[in-house]
Amino acid sequence: MGYSVLIIDDSEQIRKQIREILRETKVFTDLHEASDGLTGFKMLMQHPIDLVLCDLLMPVCDGFKFLLMKRRRVVYKDVPVILLTGAEDLRNKVRGLEQGASDYLVKPFDERELIARVKVQLKIKDLQDELKIKNARLSELSVTDGLTNIYNRRYLREKLEVEFNRCSRYNLALAYMMFDLDHFKAVNDRYGHMAGDYILVEVAAILKRNSRKPDLVARFGGEEFAMLLPNTQKKGAVALAERVREDVEGARFTFEKHTISQTLSAGVVLYPHPDIHSADQLIQKADHALFKAKEGGRNRVVLAS
Ligand code: GH3
Ligand code: MG
Ligand code: MG
Repeated sequence: MGYSVLIIDDSEQIRKQIREILRETKVFTDLHEASDGLTGFKMLMQHPIDLVLCDLLMPVCDGFKFLLMKRRRVVYKDVPVILLTGAEDLRNKVRGLEQGASDYLVKPFDERELIARVKVQLKIKDLQDELKIKNARLSELSVTDGLTNIYNRRYLREKLEVEFNRCSRYNLALAYMMFDLDHFKAVNDRYGHMAGDYILVEVAAILKRNSRKPDLVARFGGEEFAMLLPNTQKKGAVALAERVREDVEGARFTFEKHTISQTLSAGVVLYPHPDIHSADQLIQKADHALFKAKEGGRNRVVLAS
């Protein structure tokens, strides 16, 4: 895939010269041109640009103004700019670099130097782009449970805090529920850990299927799951927990030659609640309701009193 370059210079002759040099390299598939900073900035907004070569001194809108406009838009932060300056402009060169340019070239420039400096900037940009992709992937991984691919406990805890504070401030409804697989140790013992893992993945999928867009589904740890439902009242929350319970009960988990049945218990809590003043208390209440569901015989949903 080729790169895209933007050449900003008021001299048609210089633009032509650069254009011809860059064409020779076959590095660029797109060459855009502008004769002043403002037109150049508009082109930057309209086209995907990998590198800008920009004259410093131009009538009306010069290179400094271009750098200023570019700096104000964070999306263009990492698009490198090579300034084109006169030999005597030491002050301007320094000022341009301070204002966000990555490098400069002194006119009249040597063809080989132009190509070399352009390649250095493209290389840096590639590395930066790669780093951005890796960072995005890392932050995704840091909030995801490795086995089930749903959110992990850390993310749930973070969101719960935010959502709880929002709901308590504006007096909004919130439902929180915990699910725990019944006698899951026995399943592991009987069919093996791999079968257990498979069931966890499938149960996570059932939870996801029953959730709506604003709901948060997470693996709380081990064989426990949690769900956070903004804007949800008693009827909706209990119905959803009940649907999940039924879906798990009705599912036949087929692993290798085994067909395994599994049930789960759920504890549901609704906010606003007179005893709940923090996210921790919300979790405690749900945990207590879950305990009651286990105590009551498992495979059931209990709403916290
Ligand atoms: P209860 O109905 O009271 O919840 O009984 P239980 O057996 O489900 O509860 P217990 O807490 O005694 O055991 C939980 C089991 O969950 C034990 C552990 O082997 C299993 N488990 C926890 N995490 C994983 C996991 O990531 N993979 C698998 N395969 N099993 C897990
Ligand atoms: Mg458990
Ligand atoms: Mg369990």
